[in-house]
Amino acid sequence: MTRHEMLKMLHNEEPVLRAEITALYSVLDHKLGLHGAEVPITFGMDEKALGSYLPPSYDNEEQFQFSLFFIGFCMNDQLSKADRINLYKHEYAHYMTRHITIPTEYDWQPGVHGSGWKYCCSLIGAIPADYYIEGQSIKKVDYDSVLKRPSVDHKQVQMLDTYRTQRAYKAMENSQVKYEVGDTVNHPKFGEGIIKEIEKQPASVRLHIAFGEEIKIIDQKWLVKTGYKKVAER
Ligand SMILES: [Zn+2]
Repeated sequence: MTRHEMLKMLHNEEPVLRAEITALYSVLDHKLGLHGAEVPITFGMDEKALGSYLPPSYDNEEQFQFSLFFIGFCMNDQLSKADRINLYKHEYAHYMTRHITIPTEYDWQPGVHGSGWKYCCSLIGAIPADYYIEGQSIKKVDYDSVLKRPSVDHKQVQMLDTYRTQRAYKAMENSQVKYEVGDTVNHPKFGEGIIKEIEKQPASVRLHIAFGEEIKIIDQKWLVKTGYKKVAER
């Protein structure tokens, strides 16, 4: 079979997989009063991630994305049904973190796979792990211990969606404006400057800063990264 034929076969499976996912999400929606089954599902051939949930953003519609490379039926190492269901629930839990209120007792661990997400996993029976181990969905999970104390970092076997989901999370963080026009800032190389204009981009914030007579355009993330502070806060 050529690669082209294989891709065609995989794409033919999309309706079946879409039906499988939508049926599951409808059940979860009904239980939680949400609308996850209405979120568009797209399929790709991602070899780095099994799936991902992309939150609504400036330039993207909210969507679920799954890799036919891993879940397509014609592949030899296709995920078992139990592992597939766990993958769908894993992504649904990401969707939940955007649409339900997380009790404050579960906000102690930050990050896309932090305690808020794990709390969502516990409500729908998803494995609260950000990596994939074949057959792990069969094991019983002790959610109490996962949710109550910081868990030790596990060895990553295969990424579920860490790569893309964390990139989306970072882009979201990077697009949050952290300065105001008129703030005086201290740049490691250019010295003190005054923010004249703030330009919000989909995944970044560009600051127009006057260093003396000269205006420089600097991405906010570089200033944040170098640990540099607003002068007034020092
Ligand atoms: Zn995830």
